[in-house]
Amino acid sequence: MFKKILIANRGEIACRIIKTAKKLGIKTVAVYSDADLNSLHVQMADEAINIGPALVSASYLSIEKIIWAAQETGAEAIHPGYGFLSENPKFPRALEKVGIIFIGPPVKAIKSMGDKITSKELAKKAGVSIVPGHIGLIKDVEEAVQVSKKIGYPVMIKASAGGGGKGMRVAWNDKEVEEGFYASKNEASNSFGDDRLFIEKYIVDPRHIEIQILGDCHNNLLHLGERECSIQRRNQKVIEEAPSTFIDEETRNKMGEQACKLAKAVGYTSAGTVEFIVDKDKNFYFLEMNTRLQVEHPVTELITGVDLVEEMIKIAQGKRLSFVQDDIKLNGWAIESRLYAEDPYRNFLPSIGRLTRYRPPNELTLSELVIRNDTGVTEGGEISIFYDPMIAKLCTWANSRPEAIKLMRDALDDFEIEGVGHNLPFLSAVMGHARFISGDITTAFIENEYQGGFVGVTLEEDELRLVSSAIVSIHIFNEVRKSNISGRVNDILEVVGGDWQVSVQGVESPVKVVKNKNEVLVQYADLETQRVNFKWLPGDILVKFIINGENYSLKVNNIIGGYRVRFRGADLKVQVKTSRQVQMSLLMLEKKDMDTSKSLLCPMPGLVTSIDVMEGDEFEQGQTLCTIEAMKMENTLKAEKRGVVKTILAQVNQSISVDQLIMEFE
Ligand code: ADP
Repeated sequence: MFKKILIANRGEIACRIIKTAKKLGIKTVAVYSDADLNSLHVQMADEAINIGPALVSASYLSIEKIIWAAQETGAEAIHPGYGFLSENPKFPRALEKVGIIFIGPPVKAIKSMGDKITSKELAKKAGVSIVPGHIGLIKDVEEAVQVSKKIGYPVMIKASAGGGGKGMRVAWNDKEVEEGFYASKNEASNSFGDDRLFIEKYIVDPRHIEIQILGDCHNNLLHLGERECSIQRRNQKVIEEAPSTFIDEETRNKMGEQACKLAKAVGYTSAGTVEFIVDKDKNFYFLEMNTRLQVEHPVTELITGVDLVEEMIKIAQGKRLSFVQDDIKLNGWAIESRLYAEDPYRNFLPSIGRLTRYRPPNELTLSELVIRNDTGVTEGGEISIFYDPMIAKLCTWANSRPEAIKLMRDALDDFEIEGVGHNLPFLSAVMGHARFISGDITTAFIENEYQGGFVGVTLEEDELRLVSSAIVSIHIFNEVRKSNISGRVNDILEVVGGDWQVSVQGVESPVKVVKNKNEVLVQYADLETQRVNFKWLPGDILVKFIINGENYSLKVNNIIGGYRVRFRGADLKVQVKTSRQVQMSLLMLEKKDMDTSKSLLCPMPGLVTSIDVMEGDEFEQGQTLCTIEAMKMENTLKAEKRGVVKTILAQVNQSISVDQLIMEFE
């Protein structure tokens, strides 16, 4: 066994690899940039070594620095994780020269699969079904239009060097091909330093289903079933699960066989993933092969019991796989939710800042259920502009899909994150969405179900009632605390009264609080009575309630005039009033929101790359007004309705902050 390995990565994946190395008794070396001095992976590793400034090109992407760090610390092998150097063939080649082992596939396999065009050619030769299209480079926009017409609309323009959903655009007509061609080219050149494009048929409403494979250096190659990754936003995965609700045994075997065939054709060893899109008739088409550990690998580990990082380490040492295809049994159901520092209420814009609160749910491993949280952050840590905005990967496992979903809903409710915008409410919303629950999903799920963006969750009546009961109980508790402080008697109903009115999400409910000893009984006008127990200490945001015998977690903050409550993806203002307060509030003026319809505010921190209108210009709804580059993505800001530009306040190449005024309209 290796004595010491270095992890050429950061964040959750570095921490996850360190965990397995520890289990195997291998010492670990973390590398870190100046921005990561206090990060979790540095704390978890046996040794840590600084490899330079925050900028990735000068640290995590520098092959020389990583090799220097390995030599300095005497690490025998390097695990690259995902991203960064993991799929750069120059890296293992450089390691080979200095006698350090790369924990990953052979250079040849990385190289041939790293390029989407080459890999498609290879797949075709190996008898794998590929998306119909033009497997070749597109030199200019005229050729792009010609090729697209030949393939037949809709088409997808893709970057050959692509990854992470970047550099791809769907086009439904010639005009969109022209626009998409330049947008993809720019994005590809910014993200990969390689702007080669190709075009293929756009499969409408497909599912994204991928096969995990493992191969050793003794010609043993097998697959570990599929992962369904159809819940995507802008072609980036958000929620994954294993197995897939769509795949029967026969399709699974066929996809598995093709994945292994392709892997064999390139002499693959180590862990890898063959991605397919699957149409509604279960026809599947090869998309690409990822020659590394995937972000979503935990769901496969949870249903197969195989530790993929352990296998990668053993394979790198020349060991044989200790199991064969028939030993792989898919057991139960696993779901992964990716928690990102991005604000779902502002079109998922990346959010940066300090995690003033970071309290994940407790991890659990029981025979009936598992909660696993892969993370690389700690409370007080920072989500910076330099790196991926992923905060954690929360996974649940149970015997069945409904149970795994229920467990995920509860775990998301238990997750506390404050200080940065995050997508917890959105993840909760998907987990509670009837179509997701039914399993009828495609890669267009988010686009179809959240047209016009995510505006939060509207709770069902029974959920609203739970919130009402919970908050009335908290409110009374607070009132009692106040009266204790002023030295008044401690019989709550005598002091604070038993008649209240709760308003949640526009629903006003008069309630009677009929008892309080160890629990609060809340009675509604229709005579339903809810029995509420809870534990709460001043300063707690997460409050655990037992209402009519069931457990619920609500996040409750005191705000002016009431409570802010977050529950199952809903973000609510709840007010609890006495009847006198109700009368008085009817006389108050309502506060109006600011009118922003006459201005274009920058929705994210970024760089203005183009301003597409001039002062005095008339514009139509949907017309591009300007483009902002943020986190290496080109974001086009379009007009929400027709109008006339009055003044332009931003300039091309200017860095602007969130909510900064870009232009005003007449
Ligand atoms: P990346 O390497 O950037 O992740 P992929 O080729 O794996 O790019 O595609 C990412 C996602 O884009 C897929 O999961 C799928 O949702 C969508 N996609 C890619 N190609 C097509 C296509 N031809 N038709 C429909 N959707 C596609």
